[in-house]
Amino acid sequence: MGQDWDLIIIGGGIGGLSAARFMRKSGLKTLVLERSPGLNEVGAGLQLAPNAQAALRALDLWHELAPRGWTLNQVQLRSTRSGELTRMDAKPDGLVAMHRAQLQKGLAQGFTEAGIRFAVTIQGITQDRDGVRVTLANGETLDCKLLIGADGLRSQVRSLLFPPVTHRYSGTSSYRGIVSAPGFLKDPHMGAEIWGPGCRLGYSQINSEDIYWYLTFDAPAHETKTPSERRTHALELMKHFPDESPIIARTPPERIIHTDIGDIKPTDHWVEGRVALLGDAAHATTPNLGQGAAQALEDAWALGLALQKAGPEPSALAAYRDVRRKKALWIVQQSWSFQSVCHLKSAWQQSLRDFAVKHTPAAIRKSGLNRIYTPAVGLEGDAHA
Ligand SMILES: Cc1cc2nc3c(=O)[nH]c(=O)nc-3n(C[C@H](O)[C@H](O)[C@H](O)COP(=O)(O)OP(=O)(O)OC[C@H]3O[C@@H](n4cnc5c(N)ncnc54)[C@H](O)[C@@H]3O)c2cc1C
Repeated sequence: MGQDWDLIIIGGGIGGLSAARFMRKSGLKTLVLERSPGLNEVGAGLQLAPNAQAALRALDLWHELAPRGWTLNQVQLRSTRSGELTRMDAKPDGLVAMHRAQLQKGLAQGFTEAGIRFAVTIQGITQDRDGVRVTLANGETLDCKLLIGADGLRSQVRSLLFPPVTHRYSGTSSYRGIVSAPGFLKDPHMGAEIWGPGCRLGYSQINSEDIYWYLTFDAPAHETKTPSERRTHALELMKHFPDESPIIARTPPERIIHTDIGDIKPTDHWVEGRVALLGDAAHATTPNLGQGAAQALEDAWALGLALQKAGPEPSALAAYRDVRRKKALWIVQQSWSFQSVCHLKSAWQQSLRDFAVKHTPAAIRKSGLNRIYTPAVGLEGDAHA
């Protein structure tokens, strides 16, 4: 096999684009192959936690991206049964809420067609001792030293080269949207999550005009709904959150995104010879901790450091996995366990839960957040290294 590229990255989402930027910083010749015809700008908002911000700082992008988002100084947790349970002080770093498209655009800027190819269909991937060959549906072949599968939850790279994994459905589905509602929130720098019986509402400002919201609810997997059915169902759920109902009512139905919530049962089989998985392809998580994108960014950072040290060799992929697996899989498990407490239905269970959350000592809460927010990327002093 020839070696046209040091690295080929399959997937131009948050993980793939950030990995490509870290590679470029190290001077490695890198190509991203993306299935969509252009930048994937669907999706709603994202909350970028301090570890995501640290990775974007390491890419020298944060000073440019931060003003495109909205700083949240606090996040309030409430329950429909007990009112306010706690307020998480997001300072000193702050959580920054942002439209996903802003992050995608920021990560993609500066790449030319020579760096990212869109509308690509992959037909096959083979590897031998010396390199990896990607065959496209148009018959073209591309050779590289290492290949990264950053192609999301239903990764084609994983299904072509790795043993099957277990996809777990959480029993909950979600609606998400962005609505223009300037002045609606009394404290626009405070995000909120409210736990109701069998459902949950979260929202925050993402810029001076728009509010990002999500509703999660118990449901069987794979239900399909028309936009107007989504809106009707979402408004029905909002009977638990009447004060916030106008947010949903004002969202155009065709802009309500419906996504089932699931993950990949933890596995650390992320490396196979010269091929590694990254981001959701390796460790898709439920969104309960708001950490999926942050973990993909940490992966990209760790991979960049490993390649800087070892060069484009398989040993760099193993080093990347060893640095990242403990934290990434811990996040998947924590997030999975967490969801069972948000949707409790019985009154006594809700009361017990609310009492426990209200009385959790601040030091314990803080140490949990520190563990989530400290990047595990292989730098000295990492909590998870
Ligand atoms: C409801 C919800 C809310 C969330 N909220 C947050 C949050 O607040 N904060 C946070 O940090 N994370 C959040 N996440 C998680 C976050 O969106 C994901 O973890 C993150 O996008 C993963 O990035 P990725 O690049 O690994 O995968 P993806 O974003 O899925 O990107 C994969 C890319 O690969 C491309 N692709 C797929 N298959 C192929 C193929 N065969 N060939 C070529 N290209 C391919 C896709 O088109 C896509 O562009 C949330 C997720 C959900 C579902």
